[in-house]
Amino acid sequence: MNSRNRLIIAGAGICGLTLAIALQRKGIDVTIVEQAPALKPLGAGLVLAANAVKALTEIGIDQEVLKVGKALKKLVIKDRRGRVLTSTDSEQISRRYGAIDNFTIHRADLHDVLLKHLQPGSIQLGKQCVDFKQNSEGVTLYFQDGSIINTDYVIACDGIHSIFRRKLLPQSEVRYAGYTCWRAVIDNPLPGINMEETSETWGQGSRFGIVPLASGKLYWFACLNADASSALMRNYTVEDLQSRFNNFHDPVPALIKNTLNEQLIWGDIIDLKPLTQFAFDNIVIMGDAAHATTPNMGQGACMAIEDAVVLSNLLGKLSSVQDAFRKFEGMRLARTQKIVKGSWQLGRVAQLENPILAQLRNAAIRATPSSVAEKQMKFLYEVSFH
Ligand SMILES: Cc1cc2nc3c(=O)[nH]c(=O)nc-3n(C[C@H](O)[C@H](O)[C@H](O)COP(=O)(O)OP(=O)(O)OC[C@H]3O[C@@H](n4cnc5c(N)ncnc54)[C@H](O)[C@@H]3O)c2cc1C
Repeated sequence: MNSRNRLIIAGAGICGLTLAIALQRKGIDVTIVEQAPALKPLGAGLVLAANAVKALTEIGIDQEVLKVGKALKKLVIKDRRGRVLTSTDSEQISRRYGAIDNFTIHRADLHDVLLKHLQPGSIQLGKQCVDFKQNSEGVTLYFQDGSIINTDYVIACDGIHSIFRRKLLPQSEVRYAGYTCWRAVIDNPLPGINMEETSETWGQGSRFGIVPLASGKLYWFACLNADASSALMRNYTVEDLQSRFNNFHDPVPALIKNTLNEQLIWGDIIDLKPLTQFAFDNIVIMGDAAHATTPNMGQGACMAIEDAVVLSNLLGKLSSVQDAFRKFEGMRLARTQKIVKGSWQLGRVAQLENPILAQLRNAAIRATPSSVAEKQMKFLYEVSFH
């Protein structure tokens, strides 16, 4: 791209930060505008798969990210009583795809590494973009503090509620998945927990995940079927969760008990109904702004990282930024749509409430040959960044 072009990235989440690093490494100048007044460590754990690690390798920061995370050996799905329904050998996948799979990291640690690799002065904080106008000259951004920035191009990485997407595609739809979720990171996991595997336990309209992190910490999540934005769920305490999960196998009740109310992070699980357009002349949307997904496949951040690498490669190669945006759309639509749809369906199966259907589901998973799961993995991991 032409070096006189001015690029603004809206949003300093995983997507915006990774993109800025990837562009700066190609000598492309970029500014990030971020609504938060300060970058605070927040969030819980993340599971990153081989496709994200491959993308991080492309921009040369994989080793530093891996250093603050934890690679795990197995990914297991269990029934409520703790019997294994299916188990995936993550080490074997890592070997096959040449990148570490089933890798866990605290969100704050990932942000720290990303921020460290950003050129100083790249982020303008406290800049909440509230509106924009696009014409043949470029894009004008309007901020809540009354300031205005004129730029040539905008890359919108402003998350699921993106103001860019909402204005460009007013018909786009944020969907509630039908279940709500609590997350916590605790630093006192019980002795005897297998810190080498991630697991999910599927009940009836309820699910519990255990995700060991580096430094002996553990991230857990608990999902329950519920109405959207339920005041009852919002006010749930550790004690309420204990009563809902007390019929789950060990160590689920004890892990909840070992958690403090102030460690709970609550939110409804939502996604974005798959879109058919990401590029809009001088603006492109990416990350959760373009294809937010339910967390069932652990692919939201992975796709955001992939997006960043794909777009930076295109911008480094093509002379027209608009062409790069259009090509990006062409390369990313089908893949991200497939993941969003797959994750939505997986969530419906995992959250089945009817006891007979839940039993049939468990039997079907037990009977599914590992080759089926492997075929799905192949699609995820054989990603092209060029
Ligand atoms: C419960 C849960 C568990 C998950 N687990 C996993 C997992 O294990 N693995 C995985 O790969 N993914 C997971 N995800 C998904 C992952 O968190 C997201 O896909 C990822 O964070 C998206 O990054 P992003 O940068 O696109 O968006 P965001 O992280 O939402 O960042 C958007 C940024 O833009 C800023 N912003 C927003 N609006 C404006 C504005 N108007 N002006 C300026 N700045 C603005 C925000 O402050 C924010 O910093 C999970 C998600 C959830 C909800």
